[in-house]
Amino acid sequence: MNSLKDANFLAEFQEAIEGGRIRAFFQPVYRSLNQRFFAAEALARWFDPSGRMISPAEFIPTLEENGHIFELDMEILRQACALYEECRRRGTPVAGLSVNLSRQDFSHADLFEKVCGILKAHRVPHDAIKLEITESLMIEDPETFEKVFRHFRDAGFSVWLDDFGSGYSSLNVLQNYSFDVIKFDMLFLRELSFRGKEMLASMISMAKSLEIHTLAEGVETDEQREFLLALGCEAQQGFYYARPMARDAFLEMIDRKPEIVEKPEEVDYWNRIGRVNFVNPNPMKEFAERRVTLTNLSARVSSYDGSIALVECTRDDFKYIYATEGYRERLRELGFATVGGVESALSNQRSYQYLMIRKLVLDALKSGEIQTVEYAYKDVYFRLSALFIARREGRAMILMRLNTFDSEREVETAGEMLKSSSALLTTYDLVVMFYPERDAAKRVFTSNNMPEYDRETSMERSLKKFCEAEVDMMDQARYLRFLDFSTMPERVEKSHQKCIQSLFRMKLGRPDQKSRWYSARVTQIPSSTEPTFMLTVQSIQENLEQRIDQMVGDHPELLAIR
Ligand code: C2E
Ligand code: MG
Ligand code: MG
Repeated sequence: MNSLKDANFLAEFQEAIEGGRIRAFFQPVYRSLNQRFFAAEALARWFDPSGRMISPAEFIPTLEENGHIFELDMEILRQACALYEECRRRGTPVAGLSVNLSRQDFSHADLFEKVCGILKAHRVPHDAIKLEITESLMIEDPETFEKVFRHFRDAGFSVWLDDFGSGYSSLNVLQNYSFDVIKFDMLFLRELSFRGKEMLASMISMAKSLEIHTLAEGVETDEQREFLLALGCEAQQGFYYARPMARDAFLEMIDRKPEIVEKPEEVDYWNRIGRVNFVNPNPMKEFAERRVTLTNLSARVSSYDGSIALVECTRDDFKYIYATEGYRERLRELGFATVGGVESALSNQRSYQYLMIRKLVLDALKSGEIQTVEYAYKDVYFRLSALFIARREGRAMILMRLNTFDSEREVETAGEMLKSSSALLTTYDLVVMFYPERDAAKRVFTSNNMPEYDRETSMERSLKKFCEAEVDMMDQARYLRFLDFSTMPERVEKSHQKCIQSLFRMKLGRPDQKSRWYSARVTQIPSSTEPTFMLTVQSIQENLEQRIDQMVGDHPELLAIR
């Protein structure tokens, strides 16, 4: 591009600006989780009089050299503001537009006033404009930069760190300035080697811990898109989604498909969700405690498949927004081929799955804390935890974590036991887990229609309530002794089968009828975390009941609890 280098360069540049041949092109910035865009970057294009397009690589260095880049940047900002205004006028507002600032812009004392003036002329709010800057600037003249940076931040502008990882990259920069977004340079995506993946994973994790949003540029393939999503990179920009477009093409696109623009009032909601750190070994705990664990970096790549999902809930609908491969794997163990399968199972609002999940979600919403249920489904015993993440107009985003016993190996024996026979669970009338250290009881399964005694505040209270309502008067005292957890470990240890059992007369959900005989058994379950006991209650065949009555009449000592 010789003509740009000669003496006429400046005159040609002025002419081009005045003749409307310097034009901003716009490239959308997409949200990884919902595949809609919430911003667009304005990129300069110069058309020569014959209509040939000249790319920034050819004229930006020259403009920087001769000190006229400021005029270009202000012209692009003006066009970005005009587009913002036009989108709003058409009823499809775009939340943000980003513009590139050159380091020389910062030596213009009136940069701040100029920028504010342009926004004002187009009635564009400050938080709609994102200023993209590169690191070189901060390194060369940190003092000026610091001053101007604060000025912009205090006035409500977002500042994005462009091309992170391309050249100077220094982590100090992140320590010293509160950027809103880090844009990872496309070099990271060029070759997704193991080391490259590790670095990106660690940096995304670090950005989240610093409450900086993450954006990757130069996304060209579906593989890259998926990989970035799995890492929890919040936003993506690149040819895979859309090339930079002339203003008219951009407007035409959103006229045709208005649904691909994220509504500005939704941005905060999604930004909050973006804080979830998928690659953390325990994203739920991290989010709940608002504390970040930057440990275990080397375990990152292998832990992308932590078993978590984001589920958006409305009054009566559940929709998976994202599920890790690990989560999908657990669902397959439970017999669901896809998340869609779960969604349609949950659409039956009388199914126990629906009722269970609805209760879990409501508890999570109410408490703001991690809520957990343990249940058995199709002979697989699982644990589902939920944490409330964000809410907007009748919708709430819940982070779910799913573990099956088989996969967690935490309660291996129980898992094996329950899995070993598909008929096993359904032959029980009641299965309850007891955690004496936490003073908690949890009903795992029941085939009878009984109130939830495990909602009581302590194990003792729930046992008492259960006993009063469901156990025959004659056996109540004995039942409470049977389930006395102060002596339980000792009694279980002493028994040669490592479990204790006895017979009781119970009602189990049939308060008006005669009690029947049930066999109850308590087994200690090996657990890495805390002492856990499982109670199973099973009815006795009807034709045996009479003989038990007789036996007990003759030998009451048979039922003594030792
Ligand atoms: P940048 O700000 O990092 O912009 C991203 C560049 O990557 C753009 O190149 C864009 O067209 C290109 N790009 C986007 N997606 C893909 C992709 O999937 N694959 C590949 N290979 N490239 C992709 P462009 O428009 O040529 O701009 C180059 C650079 O020039 C920009 O890098 C920015 O630093 C600078 N620039 C552009 N417009 C302006 C401006 O108005 N003012 C200033 N100061 N600099 C500008
Ligand atoms: Mg840029
Ligand atoms: Mg860039």
